[in-house]
Amino acid sequence: MKSILVTGGAGYIGSHAVRELARSGYRPISLDNLSKGHEKAVLDGDFIRGELADEELLESIFQENSVDAVMHFAALCEVGESVENPRLYYEQNVVNTLTLLRVMLRHDVGKFILSSTCATYGDPQRIPIDEIHPLQPLNPYGESKLMVERVLREYDRAYGLSFVSLRYFNAAGASLDARLGESHDPETHLIPRILKVATGELENLQVFGDDYPTPDGTCVRDYIHVLDLASGHVAAYQWLCEGRDSEVFNLGTGQGYSVMELVEAARNHTDREIPLEVSDRRPGDPSHLVADPGKAHQMLKWEPEHSSVETILSTAWKWEQNRRY
Ligand code: UDP
Repeated sequence: MKSILVTGGAGYIGSHAVRELARSGYRPISLDNLSKGHEKAVLDGDFIRGELADEELLESIFQENSVDAVMHFAALCEVGESVENPRLYYEQNVVNTLTLLRVMLRHDVGKFILSSTCATYGDPQRIPIDEIHPLQPLNPYGESKLMVERVLREYDRAYGLSFVSLRYFNAAGASLDARLGESHDPETHLIPRILKVATGELENLQVFGDDYPTPDGTCVRDYIHVLDLASGHVAAYQWLCEGRDSEVFNLGTGQGYSVMELVEAARNHTDREIPLEVSDRRPGDPSHLVADPGKAHQMLKWEPEHSSVETILSTAWKWEQNRRY
């Protein structure tokens, strides 16, 4: 059985990928320092608690296991935090990745799948955003991921490392059986915050700006179910197993929903009130971010299966009411 090292395997997206890898017949090995992740979220394979910066630990993992590929989720991903503390983002997202790549190359492991982001594009010059859209990140988070993509291209050219970079749009939802879901502290993301207002844990939802150039004035995003992100990773791994070239793919649905549309859908779904408070725009938020997912459809044969707003909300709501961590 092929072993895949999953950094950040105890995190929101990583934990779903671990489960999908096991379901597809692979052996996941999760490495996570649990700074953001949850050990209870690792449902399959081995779990190693440790730091990505610990080169000796990485060395021993590659020595003791026959690792065929690395899926690299472990990273910081808060735009606001990256603006306040860019050092953290360049050290953890870039420097730690360089360490990981060094050890991989030493062990002749030549398949790498990167969690990248639509934040690499910056302010959209056209919607939907395809992969050849200009790359002008607006914050250190997006910049750090773009730097890693550039490093990967050079390592491919010079050392023959094959990679797939997956630029996610807005990850959302939870597993269908509610065993895995989103659990951040503090929670900053829109859908869990809406649902925390529905449960009464939060008093109201702050809507960050209602004067954007969108139909209802609130920001439009492309929400992609975390299970579809997980299947995208397995498809990317299989792509590399077939000996295909390194590639970059958007993972999104191509459909945009505004903050107000999601609130309305959540009101209908939960039958709760969800009071709102409109506040200032959040710095760095573009008005629209919607993927053109055509390249992943055509080349990876990947199609989202769980990303309707109904499924995203119903899985997230079930999780929110029965959290395990
Ligand atoms: N948002 C909001 N209130 C919140 C959290 C988010 O109005 O409490 C908005 C945010 O401004 C953005 C959208 O919801 O337009 C999605 O934000 P989120 O933080 O979930 O994801 P991001 O787009 O930053 O990755």
